[in-house]
Amino acid sequence: MTIDQLRSQFPILEEKVYGRPLVYLDNAATSQRPVSVVEKWNQITLKSNANLHRAVHKLAADATAEYENARQAAADFIGAADAHSIVFTSGATAALNLVAFCFGEACIKAGDQIIVTEEEHHSNIVPWQLMAQRKGAVLKVLPVDDNGRLCVEMLDEMLSSGKVRLLSVAHISNVLGIVNPVQEIVAKCHKYGCAVMVDGAQGIVHQKVDVTAMDCDFYAFSGHKLYAAPGTGVLYAKKQWLEEFPPYMGGGEMIETVRWTGTTFAKPPHKFEAGTQNISGVPTLVPAFDIATQMREQSIDSEAIATKDYIYDTLRRDSRVKLFGCPDNPQEKIPLFSFCVDGVHHEDLALILDKMGFAVRSGQMCAEPLMDRFGVTGMLRVSFAPYNTMQEAQQFITALDKAVNMLR
Ligand code: PMP
Repeated sequence: MTIDQLRSQFPILEEKVYGRPLVYLDNAATSQRPVSVVEKWNQITLKSNANLHRAVHKLAADATAEYENARQAAADFIGAADAHSIVFTSGATAALNLVAFCFGEACIKAGDQIIVTEEEHHSNIVPWQLMAQRKGAVLKVLPVDDNGRLCVEMLDEMLSSGKVRLLSVAHISNVLGIVNPVQEIVAKCHKYGCAVMVDGAQGIVHQKVDVTAMDCDFYAFSGHKLYAAPGTGVLYAKKQWLEEFPPYMGGGEMIETVRWTGTTFAKPPHKFEAGTQNISGVPTLVPAFDIATQMREQSIDSEAIATKDYIYDTLRRDSRVKLFGCPDNPQEKIPLFSFCVDGVHHEDLALILDKMGFAVRSGQMCAEPLMDRFGVTGMLRVSFAPYNTMQEAQQFITALDKAVNMLR
């Protein structure tokens, strides 16, 4: 597949903004959708829309088959041995909240410790704070160094208290764009009997994930960052946790029997999928996994690597630019670049770039503690997908230079 063939599957890339060609560089916030995903949504909505798992009629059977087929596809995509380890949620945030709540109820007592890292998205901080407050637990923070690398060498000492029950870490930070050594972190944590949750919201897009090899206890991601419909998400959990966990939300389909004297619950994963599920959205994960796999396996990938190297080198060489997240090994960097420009406010830059046709992100990026760590109020972020071209990258560098010169 050539990059032009790939781009033709994402019609929005042909849009113009303010009369200029759109250059979409905000993929870490949400990716664009290919035609195959829209078609899957339409097919379900127009031909087999019915509530899941309930009725005996043909439409319900078809809709349920599509939904359960997506569960198997999700298990295959991340190397999970059993589709019953996959819980569908509305996104990574919902999955993180589910685990924080249920793990808190099942496993946490006053004085226990939870570790998150300094580079986490608010979705991987606040649910643990809420749980820690509820249960009287203590939230500890694993720092990052000046280059944005996690201080993994500090973990042994933190874990040796014997009180840490769970560590939750981003596979890849949405600000720093560095692939964290999750497999090493999992191995360390398990040595001390500490469970590990991996926030894969960015990781799933840029890495081939194998939860069995990683041996994490939980892995969460959102469909909308991986080309699928918004409102879809996946939680992988080792089956023993799903069996041990109490229910999260109560409602239809998560029960076995309901009496005034009490309720018994369906088996996992259905126990954690209360209420009507995302009937048309979840099946779009299947074409989304397909296109993500194609992008990884075909020559597109080499163009994406060249584009990444070009932006990385250019920004690092620019003395006006302070780039955050510079690993020693460039292979650990994904095409996501957050930076500040000396003497120029990130919001002003983003506004000017927008008028030039470039969709970029500015602000705190839902990671206020990380902004504090680096002593900034916000950053400018550009995040590339395999459908972004080298030409777009070069145009961005020219536009950035122009915008900076206008403002300085
Ligand atoms: N974690 C990370 C690392 C993210 O980048 C995001 C989305 N920006 C989230 C969690 C939350 O994802 P969602 O809003 O799709 O639930």
